[in-house]
Amino acid sequence: MENGGLSVVAVRKMKLTPKAIIVQKFGRNAQFTVDEVQDVVQNGCPGLAIPQKGPCLYRCSLQLPEFSVVSETFKKKKDAEQSAAEKALEKLGIDPSPNVPSAEEAWDKLIASVKHLFSNEFLSSQSPLRGHFIAALRRDGDLYGSVPASVIAVCDSKLANLCKLINPKVESSHLLVLTYIMRAATRLSEFVVTSEGQLSIWRKDPYPPEIKESSIIQQSESPDSICIEAIHIPSSLEMAVHPVTLNVSSTGYYLDVIARNLDQTDGNKILVSRTIGKASSEMRLYFAAPKSYLLDLSSDLPNVEEVVDFEGSLNPRASYLYGQDIYGDAILASIGYTRKSEGLFHEDITLQSYYRMLIHLTPSGVYKLSREAILTAELPMAFTTRTNWRGSFPREMLFMFCRQHWLSEPVFSTCSNSLKESSESSRFYEKSAALESAETGKECTSGGGTAASDNVRCEVKIFSKSRDPILECSPKEFYKKQNESIENASLKVLSWLNAYFKDPDIPLEKLNNLVGALDIQCYPQNFFKKFSSYRFIHNVQQRKMGEKLLQANSINTLNAIPEHGIYCLSIGGPDSGIYPSNGCLSFISYSVSLVIEGETMKELLESREEFEFEMGTGAVIPQVEVVTAQMSVGQSACFCKELPPQELILAAADDSARTFSLLSSKDRMEQALFSPPLSKQRVEYALQHIKESCATTLVDFGCGSGSLLDSLLDYPTALEKIVGVDISQKSLSRAAKIIHSKLSKKLDAAVPCTDVKSAVLFDGSITVFDSRLHGFDIGTCLEVIEHMEEDEASQFGNIVLSSFRPRILIVSTPNYEYNAILQKSSSTIQEDDPDEKTQLQSCKFRNHDHKFEWTRDQFNCWATELAARHNYSVEFSGVGGSGDREPGFASQIAVFRSRTPPEEDDLLKDGDSAHHYKVIWEWDGNGLSRSSL
Ligand code: SAH
Ligand code: MG
Repeated sequence: MENGGLSVVAVRKMKLTPKAIIVQKFGRNAQFTVDEVQDVVQNGCPGLAIPQKGPCLYRCSLQLPEFSVVSETFKKKKDAEQSAAEKALEKLGIDPSPNVPSAEEAWDKLIASVKHLFSNEFLSSQSPLRGHFIAALRRDGDLYGSVPASVIAVCDSKLANLCKLINPKVESSHLLVLTYIMRAATRLSEFVVTSEGQLSIWRKDPYPPEIKESSIIQQSESPDSICIEAIHIPSSLEMAVHPVTLNVSSTGYYLDVIARNLDQTDGNKILVSRTIGKASSEMRLYFAAPKSYLLDLSSDLPNVEEVVDFEGSLNPRASYLYGQDIYGDAILASIGYTRKSEGLFHEDITLQSYYRMLIHLTPSGVYKLSREAILTAELPMAFTTRTNWRGSFPREMLFMFCRQHWLSEPVFSTCSNSLKESSESSRFYEKSAALESAETGKECTSGGGTAASDNVRCEVKIFSKSRDPILECSPKEFYKKQNESIENASLKVLSWLNAYFKDPDIPLEKLNNLVGALDIQCYPQNFFKKFSSYRFIHNVQQRKMGEKLLQANSINTLNAIPEHGIYCLSIGGPDSGIYPSNGCLSFISYSVSLVIEGETMKELLESREEFEFEMGTGAVIPQVEVVTAQMSVGQSACFCKELPPQELILAAADDSARTFSLLSSKDRMEQALFSPPLSKQRVEYALQHIKESCATTLVDFGCGSGSLLDSLLDYPTALEKIVGVDISQKSLSRAAKIIHSKLSKKLDAAVPCTDVKSAVLFDGSITVFDSRLHGFDIGTCLEVIEHMEEDEASQFGNIVLSSFRPRILIVSTPNYEYNAILQKSSSTIQEDDPDEKTQLQSCKFRNHDHKFEWTRDQFNCWATELAARHNYSVEFSGVGGSGDREPGFASQIAVFRSRTPPEEDDLLKDGDSAHHYKVIWEWDGNGLSRSSL
């Protein structure tokens, strides 16, 4: 145990393969014979006389003294051998995994492995963790040399496996590994240092200088700073998932950067998930460690329960994506040290890829993605033949589904008719190698000597990782080939799951009827335990569905097939008389665009030049199938349909940000009517005054999520200091992130286009004075006063002009008279959204949170009276629409200017130096920011 490296070998040996066990037991009496199996591939070209060779497959027969077994076919010889050995072990009733070390042995090995990580040799090892150890040596101050335990827990699979042996619960609760690693470290107090409540480990003695230098030099050859796009997933469903930029300097540690984006001081406070998605991916979720993560490091017993007290709220979207509970805001990023790349590996994650991951978790999503037709393809209802099937195969998708949802691999059992009486069933647990070979479609062709008539039946069972039953499907139908029966049973399960994912609130009996699946048995308790979080997410996304229509091409004639949700259908081109019929393959090209009713603007979402599907199986959305059935070969058609769920649209759209803004309910009224949108026009309006007045200081009263402050940074102005105040902590934290990311980007840019050196966000009410905001050059208060009661709005007016006293103050608020126009246009497009409609009818305001909306006269009175009282002048203007035409601007604006000369103004400054606001976030111009959220 002196050399920790030994443990690596020991771990590998822990599990004997089935073949090794057979060999150990029978020696030369066990004969493995591997045969090549060559099959003719049906290549989707009926009538082609030349046989097409498929890839070579292997089948292994194993002869033992008492009996013999034959494996399924596999792409690799060794998999066939293992499968045969496995079958033999099953017959012999031998459990193939008896050689597992005890929990105590694993615990000793874990301690040795942790020790090895902090050895000199480790700095020159190939382990992906090594990058973290070297990065730790570049951290500053107290963090110098400290390695976050969370990266040790997830980047070293051997350690994780050892923890699994100590306590199998580790599998379903990732934080437990952390506890074991921290405990192991406390047993190594001669070599490493930990400190209470800290999830990080230091090496006790410094590394010898030569070792340290050589590794650091080696790594600093990596390029300068990097910028990667990541995704912020707020825990609150009210807030949108949005992109963030991670800016990692050449000397910085990326975990520290991620930490700051999560409002944490450093990477030691961050937890890291296992990788998500493809096996080779570095995509992980990052989230703040609970403050009171209770590490019971004193006890000697290796078995601990996870004791966590999360203050943060559950993050439903991140938890769903990951399959385990995640608390608080999370960042999804693809970054890390890998075995393959020398420096830091990183990839951008776009909103589109986030939504693709989300839909990839649903059975139809997997299929849609495999067909590259997210908005058009649907999981087919029937598996007819392998040749007519397009996209991933059902069995493959079922494996994928189970893997992604942390379920055990599906268990298939097939049974053939001829042997039914003897009730012999061949049971096989698929291995991933088998899964691959399923693509070639030849694995189960004639295994087990089946006859030519329909005589194979297949059952599927789905279990949780802890082997609790979740679903069972036992179709009555018999098939000619084993693989057909497996694909059909798999498809049945997928269809059932898909119906649930489409409408998670559906009662179970109804679900069974819907899929016509009387042969599916669901274990509701286990099932809902696993999938209820999806219900939550799904509903949110459904609720947010917009009111626009999807169309393929343009609208010509009015023609609707209402029962299928097809509107404005027009079919063009000469009738060739050749129509597709069920069971045949249709070949189409198509495009899908987002259109806004009454607008000519279209946003292309998806298009395919060549797309094939089998008619009559529901392999495409019903509208496409219905319309295609009416078209003869050579014709074209276009029609509109209602919007699909938002996540599908965003997964399909290349420009997710733009599409999102088109869809998002908040701005959609304005978006639909104004170009550029009103919010942008307000920014431009403010900008013009900032430029004209050469203002160097600006305060945005009621800054919300910082949209104005953020936009201002994109323009060259004289501004040096910008400040925002709001009472919503949620909005402020969003503002902080957005502005931080913008400012750090500008800091690195060769030609910074802003001179802003200081930015501060305050938490406080603008009806209360704070002397730090006195005497600014310009104040803005855009679309805020209507969020307060009228008397508070007056209070704000008095305080801002008497105490804050900006030289210029710009106040905007909706023009109530303009609502008639907005409502007229919105009621025509909001037919399908009863909630929205009642909202508009019942409150008559543009937003539920508005306490009032003033007419032009009301606003004029308010502003004129205020200006007169505090020695300001006032001018009226607005954005959206026109001031000269009734009913005036959509958003009305008052610009106040101080008539008091600046010198006198200073004298007027009252002695009140009260600090009533709390600094939430601050940027000091050197790229340093402090946050107290
Ligand atoms: N000015 C921003 C946000 C407008 S939404 C923009 O144009 O995008 C209105 C904002 O006013 C909200 O963020 C709300 O939290 C804030 N607000 C309402 N009452 C407030 C008060 N008394 N003090 C500070 N902010 C307030
Ligand atoms: Mg408003």
